[in-house]
Amino acid sequence: MDEKKIVDLLQYAENHTEYYSKLFSNNGINTRDINEFTKIPFLSKAGIQVNEKEIISDEYDINSLLLERTSGSSGIPLNCRYDKNERIRRSLALWGERKKNSSDIMGKKMAVFHAGNRRHANSARNGLIARDGNTLYINYLNVGDTYVEKIYDALIEFRPYMIRCQPSILFELVTYCKRNNKSTMDIQAQYIELGSEYLFEYIRDEIIEAFPGAVVANNYGTQEFFCVAYSCPNHNLHIVSEQLHVETVNEDEEGYGEIIITSLHNYAMPFIRYKIGDIGKIETKRCSCGRKEPVLQLKSGRTSEFFMYGSNKVHAHIFKNCIESFNVLKLKTFIKQFQVIQLQEHHFEFKIVSDYTSFQEELRTHIKSFFLDKLGIELEITVSLQKQLTIDEKSNKLKVYNFLQYDKV
Ligand SMILES: [Zn+2]
Repeated sequence: MDEKKIVDLLQYAENHTEYYSKLFSNNGINTRDINEFTKIPFLSKAGIQVNEKEIISDEYDINSLLLERTSGSSGIPLNCRYDKNERIRRSLALWGERKKNSSDIMGKKMAVFHAGNRRHANSARNGLIARDGNTLYINYLNVGDTYVEKIYDALIEFRPYMIRCQPSILFELVTYCKRNNKSTMDIQAQYIELGSEYLFEYIRDEIIEAFPGAVVANNYGTQEFFCVAYSCPNHNLHIVSEQLHVETVNEDEEGYGEIIITSLHNYAMPFIRYKIGDIGKIETKRCSCGRKEPVLQLKSGRTSEFFMYGSNKVHAHIFKNCIESFNVLKLKTFIKQFQVIQLQEHHFEFKIVSDYTSFQEELRTHIKSFFLDKLGIELEITVSLQKQLTIDEKSNKLKVYNFLQYDKV
């Protein structure tokens, strides 16, 4: 634990943000005393949504900061902000981790899978597959066979040194190749970086088998912090301690608890004891790779969901993008929460929680044209306003996506 960095951050937050100044004073926290750190109440996603402006330091102009929009599993959108220096620091930290696994990785060709939702995306991110210098951008929203075939051919032609992808999407590519007698080895990738969702061991093993000569690394990152932990050759996720302080709370008998993260350098919008929503365990025993940073064992995390429409297999992420684009259009968080129900193959119901009324028809039209534009598919859409969303009886959690069953290949 980097005590000085934490104390500096606490004192800064107390002096420069309305939110922490009140929080510390209401809870009697002495920011000079590191032992009081664990008494600080957690910062939640909902807390950020409500107090966004009060969390931002008075030394920064909100409009000059970089914005990362994220939405938790409950569909609540939230804005995370940081300045340019923090962006550089985060990027350097991530590249530093990659270099530990592959010293000559810098400047090599890279294939990046993305959902096409970056707000300031360059034009290269607009198409299904587009090359921009040494980077090949691949939109992963549709992983139906016709699309995966195009992706495979593009990778063969491009020959990336590195592939950055979500495990479930790369798994689709690997199983497609198996079914169609195509060789993933012909892609000749040397470095596979998995991220953005929980990595199941069986998926990791399939990917290692499909790319036997490649380093297969796992990046546990979040939009709020970028890289939180990165795997070494032993497949252990080492916490990026120079950037973040990570703790767990409410541990079970096995030591797994809720993951709490403090960003050590983001003074523009301090995230102090932020509850990320994942479950994990921190291990301090030495790893034979030589890294000294503690290892994070994840128990759960985000997983991917898909829905079928004809021969299309579509990532659920498109719904988040669609809702977010509506909020961006309205310049406000019009939609606070959403839930999607696939009533028939081509018919979806959107349950919406909002402070506003009488926009259902506008939203319906927006959704229809969004899907037509992004995927070329025409959907029937029902929009209904709700006071609150339906909680799944079995899991007692909000199930955002409720798709029809389909036969797994
Ligand atoms: Zn290690």
